[in-house]
Amino acid sequence: MSKTNSWIVKPPAWMRLLFPGAIWREKTVDKRVFLTFDDGPVPGITPWVIEQLKKTEAKATFFCIGDNVRKYPGVFDNLKKEGFGIGCHGFSHKPGHKAGFKAYLKDIDKGLEYCGPVQWFRPPHGIIFPWWIPAIRKKGLNVVLWDVLSCDYDRSLLPQEVTANVLRNIRPGSIIVFHDSLKAWPNLKVALPEVLKWIKLHGYTTGFLTSINQNKRIL
Ligand SMILES: [Zn+2]
Repeated sequence: MSKTNSWIVKPPAWMRLLFPGAIWREKTVDKRVFLTFDDGPVPGITPWVIEQLKKTEAKATFFCIGDNVRKYPGVFDNLKKEGFGIGCHGFSHKPGHKAGFKAYLKDIDKGLEYCGPVQWFRPPHGIIFPWWIPAIRKKGLNVVLWDVLSCDYDRSLLPQEVTANVLRNIRPGSIIVFHDSLKAWPNLKVALPEVLKWIKLHGYTTGFLTSINQNKRIL
């Protein structure tokens, strides 16, 4: 059994209902899942993730930290050149409840200066107040949370437990979170190839985020 709290790995319906306007899962008619990577770009790690994805022709969206784009523009440019989806993960990765609303919005704007015009935003640390979402959507951003969190950043977990977090909860339309970060690396380097292999073996495909109309959101 995984030591991770299951409500973080797979948020229950009541929690999803508390966040109208956020995307937790995609609506799909086929066995399609949506891989996302937070906290990059990071030299060495993001290029490795790209390589793994290309091996299985997997699509994915990268929620980039503006400050990392500033530090590693070449790694970021390569992500775009390879045709991956880009989302904004703020500039400084401050958790929302500490930042205050004004500072939070300012941090998003600064992140957008580096990530470019994008339509996807994932709150740093996954923390956001539901009543903050309309102001973010007014910026033309869709707020993307998740259907399955790998918890790859949790160093108390074994890579096998991270893999299990994903494979136990994956389903059509799942938005799955990994991290292309130093913290996640020991787990990511084992779990990601396993998950990609499983996806292919079980007839799933991967896609880019598409939920523009959030009125038809799916739990
Ligand atoms: Zn993050």
